[in-house]
Amino acid sequence: MFKQMFNMIIRGGGSEQNAPSLDRLLEGMDKHLENFDTLIQPAPESKPRTPFDAHLPKEQMSLANLNPRQKLRVIPKALPLIFNMQRAARMYDGKFRAARSEVTPDVLAQLEALAFKAGVKDIKYVKVPRNAIFQGKGIPCEYAIVYTVEMDKAPISTSPSFESQLEVMRGYKNMAVIGTKLARFLQHQGFAAYPGTALGGLTDYVHLGELAGLGAIGYHGLLITPGQGARLRINTIYTNISNLPITTTNEHGWVRDFCAMCRKCVRSCPVDAIYDQPQPRGDGGMQCIEHRTCREYFTQHYGCAVCLAVCPFSQVGYDAVKTRFKGNLTAPKFQIPTTT
Ligand code: SF4
Ligand code: SF4
Repeated sequence: MFKQMFNMIIRGGGSEQNAPSLDRLLEGMDKHLENFDTLIQPAPESKPRTPFDAHLPKEQMSLANLNPRQKLRVIPKALPLIFNMQRAARMYDGKFRAARSEVTPDVLAQLEALAFKAGVKDIKYVKVPRNAIFQGKGIPCEYAIVYTVEMDKAPISTSPSFESQLEVMRGYKNMAVIGTKLARFLQHQGFAAYPGTALGGLTDYVHLGELAGLGAIGYHGLLITPGQGARLRINTIYTNISNLPITTTNEHGWVRDFCAMCRKCVRSCPVDAIYDQPQPRGDGGMQCIEHRTCREYFTQHYGCAVCLAVCPFSQVGYDAVKTRFKGNLTAPKFQIPTTT
């Protein structure tokens, strides 16, 4: 994995057979699932994980064509990211035996204090519905801790740019470091705890974020939350803790009513990859983006992120949008049903 990342960033891609492939890298990490005798399986209607690779020649991949100064700035983000993703993957060795399945308020408070100290912006809990598990994957525990990490406004607002991609990478790196730290804390307390992969993953993190009540999915397909809006990254920790404070209500449903009037991301996408209105999806969720179209531009332009940058929630913040919004009674309603 280090070798692939090294090839991609430092050498500007390997041989044609060994071309940089984030999907191949992530599939390699998913191999750890073979260490488990049983896994919670996806629902028949679950969607597959969206691939990253755009199958473009490496000359067109911005990450494979960085100048020396850019490479030097990427290394401190990329190496800890990959290192901590590997550490997380190693925790899926199938050997841990949980001694406890119910958490005390005191231990939960310790977990949250540790999370916030490490840079988490918000943290909530969910019972993972099977339709959020990607087709062909599986998870070792039925509950998940879902947390967010903020990305800074200044670099994100320059999207698409190297500065923006660097900030996204910093967000991923922070998630990977925090996931391992929190999962280790829980294992030390006797609970089963497996950090989700910062990139890729076994479940749809945006879907879980909305179910957990962290925010609502906007028309750009990203989670919009109080505070930083869509300028965030999401990660999970799968756990056997059965008495987590799970909420079944979501107070952010109005966000999509606002989206139906806004559509700034739809108009701003350089390649028209965002649907004017989310499309119904096989698993009952909503498809917001034509991924193949997005992916090509994304790969050529530093991970793009224009939709994230222009979103009013990212720019002026959740509270300011909410204060000014007078409601939209005719907005179409989209719900993501759960499958247990
Ligand atoms: S830019 Fe507008 S339409 Fe798009 S997600 Fe943000 S608020 Fe919703
Ligand atoms: S990342 Fe860029 S290309 Fe992809 S949907 Fe957003 S604005 Fe469009």
